[in-house]
Amino acid sequence: MLSRADAIALCAWFRENARPLPWRRDADPYHVWLSEIMLQQTRIEAVIPYYERFLSELPTIRDLAAVDEERLLKLWEGLGYYSRARNLHRAAKVVCGEHGGVFPDDVAGIRALPGIGDYTAGAIASICFGRKAPAVDGNVLRVCARYAERFEPVTEPSVKRRVTEALEAVYGYRGVKPSDLTQGLMELGEVVCLPSGALRCSVCPLAGGCRAYAHGTAADLPVRAPKKEKREVDVTVLILRTGDGDVAIRKRPDTGLLAGLWEFPNVEQRLSQAEALAFAEGLGVKPLCAKKGLSHTHVFTHIRWRMRSYVVDVEEAGGAGTTATAKQGGLRFVSPEELTETHALPTAFRKFIDCIASV
Ligand code: SF4
Repeated sequence: MLSRADAIALCAWFRENARPLPWRRDADPYHVWLSEIMLQQTRIEAVIPYYERFLSELPTIRDLAAVDEERLLKLWEGLGYYSRARNLHRAAKVVCGEHGGVFPDDVAGIRALPGIGDYTAGAIASICFGRKAPAVDGNVLRVCARYAERFEPVTEPSVKRRVTEALEAVYGYRGVKPSDLTQGLMELGEVVCLPSGALRCSVCPLAGGCRAYAHGTAADLPVRAPKKEKREVDVTVLILRTGDGDVAIRKRPDTGLLAGLWEFPNVEQRLSQAEALAFAEGLGVKPLCAKKGLSHTHVFTHIRWRMRSYVVDVEEAGGAGTTATAKQGGLRFVSPEELTETHALPTAFRKFIDCIASV
């Protein structure tokens, strides 16, 4: 694992080269926590506008605890993995309800909050409170695998445990500031020790002690276990449209994929035009005609939706066109403006908004 000299060099390199990211303006745990949660599965450039908008509307953890969930999901719309937003909400309520609005300052207290795992707890504890707590994610595992030239799958929990334990000793070195070490490792993985392609070993502060660099094996590391194939699922989406241009949406179930979010009515099946009309009738509306709309593929972590759509003109919503079945089935007709402004529609379905006017 990192020698003391290399750990100190990495910290110094970070202080000189840190990119001016918005969550680095201060070490407020609310800011660091929010950024770490947003950055899970999402690129930095994509997160920045969401982060700024989120904090301008919810500047304190008390504001987050008090916000209406529908509004919170709207602020999160497009970031995906919406359980992250719900867990933020839950954790903010715990901080305000049980800790008087003050963020816990040790790993155990932070780790006990909803939605916070070992990585995020280590990041907040070290960056905001100076705790000697490693934050080990894919970037850090890659840097460590190369530095120590370990040909073992970094996707294995036992490898992650071993790296975490080894790093704990590095955090204990004299002259190493936990905040700089955590952020230095993160930054190095993001801008120098890149996943593949153009590695920048020539400017790396760890080059002197890096075994993979010395042996020319950096591009072969880290080793990963083979990825599982994603499950392919056909999904047919119906854009049920009234003469006024309103469209039907409904809420997804409270558990499972995209839980509790809004969606256009759909079924996990490839439907023909005639079947789409029959499906629309089954939803309790009176369809007039169906036209083919957009198709696209949406990729989740374990599943790939091959989505196709039909734009189905229906009789007026709320009148003859909306039966009791439709109301019981939870269909709600909204204008495209209302849809855009107030309802959180996941990216998988947002793509079909273009069909409302164009088909
Ligand atoms: S020298 Fe190269 S391989 Fe080694 S840690 Fe630095 S960037 Fe990564």
